[in-house]
Amino acid sequence: MELERELSERLASVQSMIGDACARSGRSSDDVVLMAVTKTKPVEVIRSLTDLGIRYFGENYPDETIQKISIFADAPEDVRLCMIGTLQSRKAKIVAKHFDAFHSVDSLKTAERINRLLGEEERSMEALFEINVGNEVSKHGWDISQPDTLFHDIERILLMPRLKCSGLMTLPPYTADGETNRPYFVRMRELLEKINQTFGLTWTTLSMGTSDDFPVAIEEGATIVRIGTKLVGARAYR
Ligand SMILES: *Cc1c(COP(=O)(O)O)cnc(C)c1O
Repeated sequence: MELERELSERLASVQSMIGDACARSGRSSDDVVLMAVTKTKPVEVIRSLTDLGIRYFGENYPDETIQKISIFADAPEDVRLCMIGTLQSRKAKIVAKHFDAFHSVDSLKTAERINRLLGEEERSMEALFEINVGNEVSKHGWDISQPDTLFHDIERILLMPRLKCSGLMTLPPYTADGETNRPYFVRMRELLEKINQTFGLTWTTLSMGTSDDFPVAIEEGATIVRIGTKLVGARAYR
């Protein structure tokens, strides 16, 4: 009960910040989805959050998620388990089998692998392209300063029948002051427009903004914000 109350207070605070950011930018809060990032968190946290109405969950480590899979399997039908971490090839099968969406497709090779495994499972999956918007060596995804590679790969990935591509995802450089990431969020919005124009698409999903910068991300067009720490507390890594 203690846990439920704490989560409910944290959730109210995050939702009120989402509402404020939407109001500032003339958007409807219905257009922004709150994804709870629950890596390293126990099933009790996930259960409480589904009870509180959360429907999008982000997990990074398939090995860890599989230990908690029954909580997702038994959750209401509309609960969506989304892969948001770097996919190691050995773990790709877990994602193809158990996840509902793959929000961190970071290369042509990763896309090919997951498309093939989804074929074996006779499933398909929503997919987002991960963009390395800060051009950081430590991060995965397409380098935003090499748009030719990105556009070439998009052309190929659009032909993969098991991937339902619908937008972009990014994790900009870490900052305690979200304002410094505004230019990155703007660049993501512009990139989405450019992709839609170039390929005649109507992608709408922009997954961007975490605990420290989600209000700014919303002001610049985020449709999914991925909140861990601010919602479920600091992570405990073993
Ligand atoms: C861990 C993680 C988050 C959540 O970050 P917080 O700062 O805890 O909100 C969001 N997105 C990705 C890709 C992550 O790995």
